[in-house]
Amino acid sequence: MPALAEVLTALDALWPPQRAEEWDAVGTVCGDPDQPVTRVLFAVDPVQAVADEAVRLGADLLVTHHPLYLRGTTSVAASTFKGRVVHTLIKHDVALHVAHTNADRADPGVSDALAGALDLRVTAPLVPDPSDPAGRRGLGRICELDAPLSLAAFGERVAARLPRTAQGVRVAGDPEATVRTVAVCGGSGDGLFDAVRAAGVDAYVTADLRHHPASEARETGPLALVDAAHWATEWPWVEQAAAQLDEISDRNAWGLRTHISHTVTDPWTAHASATSPVHTTQPSGAPN
Ligand SMILES: [Zn+2]
Repeated sequence: MPALAEVLTALDALWPPQRAEEWDAVGTVCGDPDQPVTRVLFAVDPVQAVADEAVRLGADLLVTHHPLYLRGTTSVAASTFKGRVVHTLIKHDVALHVAHTNADRADPGVSDALAGALDLRVTAPLVPDPSDPAGRRGLGRICELDAPLSLAAFGERVAARLPRTAQGVRVAGDPEATVRTVAVCGGSGDGLFDAVRAAGVDAYVTADLRHHPASEARETGPLALVDAAHWATEWPWVEQAAAQLDEISDRNAWGLRTHISHTVTDPWTAHASATSPVHTTQPSGAPN
């Protein structure tokens, strides 16, 4: 059975920490490099429910996509929710390791996993990493569908293939429009609109789209938008990452047991559809 340090070396080879954005906080949050690892849990968010899940499973290592502390802290007292997570993990000998923007930019990365979940064929990164001569790493992915779909049908596919959340999937655009090419970006993708427009795709699948960037995108071209819950767009990476570590474990005869958290940690818990006509966009020509 490997020591934590050996497993972390393997994870750092998959998602080199130096490829993370400068503002990011990736790497090991807690854990003894000498402790043996037999069970690993993968999840999107290092929240209390996931820490408790790691303890219940008897995991020695929790790997999450989102950082616990994005900025420095002067306290890990259990009176704060993050401090409580730290206490829970350390008390039960669970290490925590984060792969965030280094996993976004990797090959395969978070958006490859999203594309795979949606049954899309990746053709290129949306924002290529100039340091990758193979042209496979970078932010977001440009993809093709095997067969064109209407936007309405494509939206249904996204909703059906991603794990269910209260938010569901929002679609902007003509439901009859044909979707052949798609840009995807797991997580908050409304900073990438310039690249999406330059790619000339029919639709953009991401999360956390705000009113103004979305409205501007709709007013300036035919680009359709598909907005899913942030957690749901990144969850496919959890499966991908666990499979990657399984393969490494097999190669090294480590005998690791990897687990995938199915706990929905998207913060939104309910969705109420507006029913009054005043809350809906009127068809053109109708009074509003
Ligand atoms: Zn995210």
